[in-house]
Amino acid sequence: MTPPAPLQLPTADEALAWMRERAATGLASARDLVAGLREAPPAEAEAVLRRWDEVSLALSNVGAIASLFSNAHPDVDVRTAGEEAEVEVDKLVTELRQDRALYDVFAALDPAGLDPTAARLLEKTLEEFRRAGVDQDEATRKRLAEISERITAIDQEFSRTIRDDVRTVKATPEQLAGMPEDWLAAHPVDEDGLVTVTTDYPDAVPARMFVRDADVRRQVTVAFLDRGWPDNEPLLRELFDLRHEYANLVGYSDWASYDAAVKMIEKGPAIPEFIDRIAQAAQGPMERDLGVVLERFRRDVPDAEAIDTADSVYYEELVRKEQHDVDSQLVRTYFPAERVKQGLLDVTGRLFGLRYEPAPDAQPWHEDVAAYDVYRTGPDGEDGAGDSLGRIYLDLHPRDGKYKHAAQFTITNGVAGRQLPEGALLCNFGRGLMEHDHVVTLFHEFGHLVHHVLGGHVEWTRFAGVSTEWDFVEAPSQMLEEWAWDADVLRTFAINADGEPIPADLVAKMRAADDFGKGLQARQQMFYAAVSYWFHTDRPADLTARQAELQERYSPFRYIDGTHFYANFGHLGGYSSAYYTYMWSLVIAKDLFSAFDEDDLFDAEIAGRYRDSILAAGGTKDAADLVADFLGRPYTFDSYAAWLAR
Ligand SMILES: [Zn+2]
Repeated sequence: MTPPAPLQLPTADEALAWMRERAATGLASARDLVAGLREAPPAEAEAVLRRWDEVSLALSNVGAIASLFSNAHPDVDVRTAGEEAEVEVDKLVTELRQDRALYDVFAALDPAGLDPTAARLLEKTLEEFRRAGVDQDEATRKRLAEISERITAIDQEFSRTIRDDVRTVKATPEQLAGMPEDWLAAHPVDEDGLVTVTTDYPDAVPARMFVRDADVRRQVTVAFLDRGWPDNEPLLRELFDLRHEYANLVGYSDWASYDAAVKMIEKGPAIPEFIDRIAQAAQGPMERDLGVVLERFRRDVPDAEAIDTADSVYYEELVRKEQHDVDSQLVRTYFPAERVKQGLLDVTGRLFGLRYEPAPDAQPWHEDVAAYDVYRTGPDGEDGAGDSLGRIYLDLHPRDGKYKHAAQFTITNGVAGRQLPEGALLCNFGRGLMEHDHVVTLFHEFGHLVHHVLGGHVEWTRFAGVSTEWDFVEAPSQMLEEWAWDADVLRTFAINADGEPIPADLVAKMRAADDFGKGLQARQQMFYAAVSYWFHTDRPADLTARQAELQERYSPFRYIDGTHFYANFGHLGGYSSAYYTYMWSLVIAKDLFSAFDEDDLFDAEIAGRYRDSILAAGGTKDAADLVADFLGRPYTFDSYAAWLAR
């Protein structure tokens, strides 16, 4: 059997027609396959699942490239065509999940005789249909559709209100002393001799961090915390009520339980337990860090007993600067972008037994983009025989019309014998010297990409690559960040213009600066996670009072009377009750990393076992089982707690 070939991407001239054609063909073939399944399903359960997997593959092939092109293609018409195709795919997916006749085909299947992975696919498929309410009566289905539509509208309006509600504080240049020079230069005084500071991030973040005048800091903080209020308050109440109703209609006691059922955490009530567990583990580290911040605060405000967020950001930054002064200009000299890119490939190649070869026949969407074919290496690092494992595209620098953050995008999902996994990183790094933060981000995102490629050799589209539970998917990426913090790893590629590798003591200082405040951050994150969970679960009558109560319980920083942070807590839209997920996967990442040898992060046996049991498995098993397969035991909090206390 000839191995699958990489997808030939179009030239710039062909791209628009190609995108439309790929969307039209893919969607038509998905519809045809579904019609066949509905009208004349095969008798065998496995044959039905194979046909259904073809539908999933067709839909993912349109959706993936549409998302990539809408975010990365230099031609605006191609970006628009990509957006249109994404909408079409979403519409069809929703339509299929509410297709009763199609559901009946799956519900009638006999799982006996299916292998465990196929049985898992059937179970997941039925679950997805039921979560969309397909097995409910006509009236209920109608109500569920209304609720979904209204939730989408609220979500958009909630975000729009936050985006559009830009508040301002005016101050004299003297009051803004401490702000970076380039910021001050870009913000001249108006006719009244005042400078305007808005609540947009490029103003509010440095103002809260650097402005020495406590009064101005407080004004900016209060304005920042009140964005979206009062307009978003009624929207949020409606959102929480609708989600609760939706969950009840499809058989769950509350929204968090509905949402958690398809995540690693499994049960809604496990979320507050997790929050309290982290809060407890962070108690000591928080007190230690807060003590340091308060001590510094008292040098300016002698009788202070507590600190709120109008001062905490500033004093945390001050402590970091005074006690952990790391010269970021010096650090940058060790990270020339080209060398970092090669270093990333060398490090991950060595770690996972991979070789990346430039792909001469690839046709990237822009001249900045580098394409590589991925191969396995032999046990001693020699060129391994065998077919390509997949193709990756690195699109690392900013340009007009391109996605503004850093993320991994799928181009094709890999299915064994059917299709090679292909993916891309879209980032926005400079072309010269890189910040170390950006190097860490690059390793993080590459963690998703390598997961996508190695997990792209499973039998079913539904389980390809990164298709694991949402609260696990960040763990492999968060773990790979560790390699960008290790002095021995860094000295292999972090080399300045004079050919000197980054000194180990500089890396140690960078790590100490990064470590400071971990306890504070953990508690602040648990405050956010508690708002996300309890607002959805209790739907409190007085959101402001409940926020204040949760802040007092979890946050190291006191509540500022009369502020309404929840009105601009955008994650209440997308993450809903599951803001805990970031911390959850960090706990798992620290546990996974504990299996590696700190003195030799490249230990081939450990890395190979990790690659095979976690990354290559994709979504074929529950994440908890993948983790247990690798660690030889269930996951625990111990490594995270030890890291926090370090
Ligand atoms: Zn990530």
